[in-house]
Amino acid sequence: MSFNENAQLDTSQVESGGGGGFGRGGGGNFPGGIQIGGGIGGLILLVLMLIFGGGSILGGDSDGGSAGGLPSQELEPQQVGAAGQVQQSEFSQCKTGADANRDDVCLIIATVNSANDYWSKTLPKYQMNYEMAKTVIYEGQVQSGCGTASAQVGPFYCPLDSRVYVDASFFQELESKFGASGGPLAKEYVIAHEYGHHIQNLLGLLNRAQQDPQGPNSGAVRVELMADCLAGTWVKHATETTDADGTPLLQPITQQDIEDALSAAAAVGDDRIQEKVQGRVTPENWTHGSAEARMSWFNQGYETGDINQCNTFGVDRVS
Ligand SMILES: [Zn+2]
Repeated sequence: MSFNENAQLDTSQVESGGGGGFGRGGGGNFPGGIQIGGGIGGLILLVLMLIFGGGSILGGDSDGGSAGGLPSQELEPQQVGAAGQVQQSEFSQCKTGADANRDDVCLIIATVNSANDYWSKTLPKYQMNYEMAKTVIYEGQVQSGCGTASAQVGPFYCPLDSRVYVDASFFQELESKFGASGGPLAKEYVIAHEYGHHIQNLLGLLNRAQQDPQGPNSGAVRVELMADCLAGTWVKHATETTDADGTPLLQPITQQDIEDALSAAAAVGDDRIQEKVQGRVTPENWTHGSAEARMSWFNQGYETGDINQCNTFGVDRVS
């Protein structure tokens, strides 16, 4: 979906993270940077289970077993963004919807604005309170409340600091590496999916991914498919979201938009990724769901616009 050119963006809902600072060119290469290893590995694996693309991007989950056994209550949120935190002025290029239509960083901000507005209006209708979640936009590597993460893991949500983390370069990978068709809604879907995880965190559902981390009908897959469905409900209502002045953030959705979102959802299906990475499909290792299931649950949310239709734990099988 394209943004309304006159809509005003609220950059206070995003933060800049990453060792080298954002938008200074290069990126991804941090002299003297933090090595991931030892105890942090467990933290990283915890994050991996919640990310958009799945651990299989990193070459399989042979060491994934330890993550399930990691008691999340032992994890203390770390200070977020202490190093590499950059001022809001870094987003000074993102003022309006027109900026979001030509710049991926501004697109992230505009989508975050829309998602926060949507959920703040929607959860009260279901007798629940919404707590605004910020998004950290980073380049290369970032310190999150769930440990250090590199852009390789893809966008993710950290329940320990209630923040979404996105490296804008992922959008190019979505097309070049995963084969999605591109288009604005493909990118917006990625952000909306992560906000789906934030809703799940508010509802106390995220731990069900850790309790049952793998398999075609596992808790992890059900959590991911629910996030796809919740993203679909946002798409349904996205044009109703507004900036602080009441100007709609988004223009009406097109059929091309939906096709782009479905293409992105399919591209990050476990079966598609496994075919690419390991040359065969092993459902017993699925963490996010098949291409078909991801499209189907996204559609369920989009067509109904009702979060009660996103209960992936209420059906016998999701795959
Ligand atoms: Zn996810």
